[in-house]
Amino acid sequence: MCEILTLGAYGSRSQKGGTSAFMLNSTTLIDAGNVVVPLGEASADIDLVWLTHSHLDHIADLAFMIDNYFEKRDKPLRIRGLPQTLEAVQTHFFNHTIWPDFSAIAMYGSKEMTVILESIEVGEYYTIDETMTIKAFYTDHTVPSCGYIVTKEHQALLITADTHRLEMVEEAVKSHPNIRSLVIECAFPNAMEELAVVSKHLTPNLLFERLKPLESLGLKLYINHLKPTYETEIRQEIKKAKGKWDVTILRDGTVLVF
Ligand SMILES: [Zn+2]
Ligand SMILES: [Zn+2]
Repeated sequence: MCEILTLGAYGSRSQKGGTSAFMLNSTTLIDAGNVVVPLGEASADIDLVWLTHSHLDHIADLAFMIDNYFEKRDKPLRIRGLPQTLEAVQTHFFNHTIWPDFSAIAMYGSKEMTVILESIEVGEYYTIDETMTIKAFYTDHTVPSCGYIVTKEHQALLITADTHRLEMVEEAVKSHPNIRSLVIECAFPNAMEELAVVSKHLTPNLLFERLKPLESLGLKLYINHLKPTYETEIRQEIKKAKGKWDVTILRDGTVLVF
């Protein structure tokens, strides 16, 4: 059995919680929107982050997990993602203007750089540990973006991160019969469909319309990335639109079991 901890479940930061981050094990994350508050000093143990894309709600705590615990870190932080994502992080974030370029700063008492940026190949399997692998697939967002399929002991979970279309989820489920759970975003309420279309996100109606071809498969559906201001409305609309789906809407701290 695999358990993934939701560190940040929301599509924006508020008193309700933080933005996208999932903890695969004590050293590995998918996205880093909310790390320092839930993990505290254990943030220094994280040595691998798989980014889905370059938007701030998915990368913000990269800045603070390094800075806060700089002296405690004994291993570099490897940041993996699409080449365009890493280029954006380097050019617009770790650029010595917004925040120090930690890929050019050595760790305390070491010659190794604090951050190492490593491009990934979509479709390739990477090993996380003896029992877990991860593979990226392209998603449909306003910047280059990917989701991940995490496989542990022959069971798999698919995380879309931000996306508008879902054909790639359909394809992935068809070609990976071991996928038993999906984590899909739903950022806006139905009334904001126009904004969802332009910003390449989903509403409850769009989400369940697009999931129709998979409805009969009995998969577990986790939903994340709700904009906290509209949480109540989105939750009600999900309840109405979900049909046969077994749905859990994520909060910070929810454990995904598969
Ligand atoms: Zn985004
Ligand atoms: Zn986002």
